[in-house]
Amino acid sequence: MINITTKIQNRSTKNDPIIRALPAACADEKTAVEFGERMRWGGHPACPHCGDTDVYQMMNVDNTARQANYRWRCRECKAQFTVRIGSVFEDSRIELRHWCFAFWRASTSKKGVSALEIHRQTGVSYKSALFMLHRIRYAMSESAPVMLGQDCGDVEVDETYVGGKPRYRGTSKRGRGTKKQCVLALVERNGSVKTKPIANVSAKTLQTAIRQNVNGSARIVTDENSAYTGIGKHYARGHQTVCHSTREYVRGDAYSNTVESFFATVKRGINGIYHSVSKEHLSLYLSEYELRHNNRNLEDGERTAAAIRKAQGQRLLYKQPVTR
Ligand SMILES: [Zn+2]
Repeated sequence: MINITTKIQNRSTKNDPIIRALPAACADEKTAVEFGERMRWGGHPACPHCGDTDVYQMMNVDNTARQANYRWRCRECKAQFTVRIGSVFEDSRIELRHWCFAFWRASTSKKGVSALEIHRQTGVSYKSALFMLHRIRYAMSESAPVMLGQDCGDVEVDETYVGGKPRYRGTSKRGRGTKKQCVLALVERNGSVKTKPIANVSAKTLQTAIRQNVNGSARIVTDENSAYTGIGKHYARGHQTVCHSTREYVRGDAYSNTVESFFATVKRGINGIYHSVSKEHLSLYLSEYELRHNNRNLEDGERTAAAIRKAQGQRLLYKQPVTR
């Protein structure tokens, strides 16, 4: 009980100025724009066209307040811009305060947040809520380093089936004959996680994916699946297995509990919040779980800010393929 209380106290808002600023930013458009500007430029606004910092806020006709669309103008190249430019909100007409709210919820709800909930809580249409969450997931993608296990660490690897409808349960083995997608997860102990949707669970596919994502100095830890046999020869610290079929889960520092618990969160979220996720969109949903895991040590406000910052320089176009 003491531990839980301490944890809650540590997570309180008193040391987290961003989380204190969020409710106001979610309630008022001007505050949301200023919050977004602070997140993006940190007090030093710059022209997104030429990079010059000689920029000013455009005012309304009687010069008493900022223009209603919160534009800036660059003295150097004369271009006008807003905080939205070059970000996932660029061509959206949804108010920034709703984007703030959706980013906040998506960054802090451990199992995810549904579009229906955002629709009910902000008043935007369900379709707009879906659109926002989709773009937020896109902004959240690639939150892990390119190669895991850089500092000779342990990287746990496991595969599972996610998504689709849970039909044929019991008769099929490992998702065969269902619309589930096979996903490989690679998790550094005390570090980042990366997921990869994969076409099959052959030794070639699994081992290629591992070698493309894990640095050679690491040690690979898996269950007894024979498809991983031989991966150790590519790794300086080898390959360790735990034999789940004989009910062995931990043997010294040989365990794959970190990756299993990540999968457990993903499955609880996908089954409980999103209910059914198509194969086509699964990798975006997984990005969301990755970002929350990879930034789990940050305060809620900091994690939200990290996600909002990732929204810059990312723009999802309608025709652009949404897979990573
Ligand atoms: Zn400029």
